[in-house]
Amino acid sequence: MSTKAYAAQAAESPLAPFSLTRRDPLPNDVVIDILYCGVCHSDLHQARNEWGNTIYPCVPGHEILGRVAKTGSAVKKFKEGDLAAVGCMVDSCRTCPACEAGLEQFCETGGTVFTYNSPDRHSGGVTFGGYSESIVVDESFTLKVSEGVDLAATAPLLCAGITTYSPLKHWKVGPGKTVGIVGLGGLGHMGVKFAHAFGAHTVLFTTSPGKAEDAKRLGADEVVVSKDPDAMAARARSFDFILDCVSAQHDINAYLNLLKLDGTLTLVGAPERPLPVAAFNLILPRRNFAGSAIGGIPETQEMLDFCAGRGIACDVETIGIRDVETAYARLLKSDVRYRFVIDMATLKNPA
Ligand code: NAP
Ligand code: ZN
Ligand code: ZN
Repeated sequence: MSTKAYAAQAAESPLAPFSLTRRDPLPNDVVIDILYCGVCHSDLHQARNEWGNTIYPCVPGHEILGRVAKTGSAVKKFKEGDLAAVGCMVDSCRTCPACEAGLEQFCETGGTVFTYNSPDRHSGGVTFGGYSESIVVDESFTLKVSEGVDLAATAPLLCAGITTYSPLKHWKVGPGKTVGIVGLGGLGHMGVKFAHAFGAHTVLFTTSPGKAEDAKRLGADEVVVSKDPDAMAARARSFDFILDCVSAQHDINAYLNLLKLDGTLTLVGAPERPLPVAAFNLILPRRNFAGSAIGGIPETQEMLDFCAGRGIACDVETIGIRDVETAYARLLKSDVRYRFVIDMATLKNPA
């Protein structure tokens, strides 16, 4: 099935119209007409080859929400017309201990198939993401979405939502805990919403003083401008947990210093180059420096259901597909409030 899309042809070239072929549905496949796709900073890292592993042409997009157009003969969870969503993965080995535990993002056989830029088991080529009219995905990697939610505002939950929900749950963030969220972008703004919803005392660290008011509206109890050394020093040794959602180079030691005894800093931001850590900032007082990648399929469904039940969604700015380069340029200036979402009708019917 020929499908319109937007692709990067090289690290230096802007995304432009591209045509790709989606497979005919296999028995367990769901064909989804994409309505909205969020713009994650990972899309930008990948399109520009900042992680050094991009295969061109590259069609980014892993915050996919749409309606089922067709189902394979064995599909049980979906019928035509249902809402459906796809996040960062479309398959895994399904049999290793991590996959059996619902942690497909950590598949131990290296079998995780990411939504874009991964070897495609079916086509023999590479997977193409959600900056496209439609996608064909096995129902086991397709999420259910409740009718009645704001569709554009729900799409980014598929990456920004689960990537912040999962580590906050894993490290048992809740009442009585002081929790820092670093960087108020797509991930960070969901980190603030979830930390607040889980009952923690939530502190946002930002380089953008102009975002302070928004942060409080989103659920932050306090806002610290990280460029102010006095404000940072006043917070030393006072945090149980910090989630670092920053997309660019920054000083990780400045945040390790804010952790209490046995406190944990989890990095979800994935800057291009290594972030040096000073040994004594971990040794004393017995701090943990951790990482986390998205979340497994069962937890992603749990997060979507939690959000639907609590009326939680993303704060989004809807754009047309032709504005995606402008959106990337704004991400690089930290000028996002707080997720760009592409209205995919603009790909089907360019004005
Ligand atoms: P984003 O919307 O662009 O937000 C990044 C935020 O980081 C900015 O809004 C800004 O917040 C802060 N920031 C930017 N440059 C900075 C600098 N030089 N120093 C300090 N702070 C800076 O990005 P995103 O989509 O949330 O993604 C964030 C990162 O997470 C990316 O690297 C992305 O690839 C990664 N990611 C990882 C996973 C995972 O599974 N681990 C999943 C998705 C994304 P302030 O204006 O508040 O300072
Ligand atoms: Zn993402
Ligand atoms: Zn596996």
